Amino acid sequence: MKINNYTRWAITSVFLILAGQAFGQTPRKVGDSKLTEVWAPMPKVVTAGKTDAAPPADAVILFDGKDASEWLDKDGKPVTWKVEGNNLTVNPFSGDIHTKQSFGDCQLHVEWRTPAIVKGDGQDRGNSGVFLMGRYELQILDSYNNPTYANGQAGSIYKQRIPLVNISRPPGEWQSYDIIFIAPVFHNNGDLKTAARITVIQNGVVIQNNVELWGEMQFVGIPFYEKHGAKEPLLLQDHHNPVSFRNIWIREL
Ligand code: MG
Repeated sequence: MKINNYTRWAITSVFLILAGQAFGQTPRKVGDSKLTEVWAPMPKVVTAGKTDAAPPADAVILFDGKDASEWLDKDGKPVTWKVEGNNLTVNPFSGDIHTKQSFGDCQLHVEWRTPAIVKGDGQDRGNSGVFLMGRYELQILDSYNNPTYANGQAGSIYKQRIPLVNISRPPGEWQSYDIIFIAPVFHNNGDLKTAARITVIQNGVVIQNNVELWGEMQFVGIPFYEKHGAKEPLLLQDHHNPVSFRNIWIREL
């Protein structure tokens, strides 16, 4: 059969109209809108905090300003970090502290403050750290006009991931971390199955956007993973600087 231009135009037009409908280029009403509604299961109802920084009803309170009883020192004894004026402050050289409870996937809120009286430079100024699962360090540092290596400044995953921006407040001012952490998963033989991931919001700004961790924090050398429990205690670092903390809470995910 000989196809003239008109026939070719007509066939093409019909094809385009049908294809357009098939791929949803034109809105169509098909059946019942309720077909795409989901009514079960419903999310659990949780009472929000009075502010976004206040713990919601389902959070585990790790420090409420009054006592540090959720924490232990490196020997498993009550901590000697100072509880004063609603704050928990590093007792320099007393050692890191860790939670009594263990956590895996979590949402964590931590408020911290580096000393108003500035002492030291680089890594020796207002250094502490939040160690997820006791191993993966989100750096705390006075990074306000205090140059150091980019993957070691505040908001870095120490010696791994550089924060997207430096949103640091001046020393002596309170800052916040809101952290979403996904724990690594290991095979039975110890090999890594899936790496840990972390999202961090500092002072309301995203500084780590769902990044993969390369392994445990290493001060020297390349990070690597070593099999550990599905849940592990959270750790705060004593880096010999009197960094203060307040309003620490965590939600298991
Ligand atoms: Mg540190």
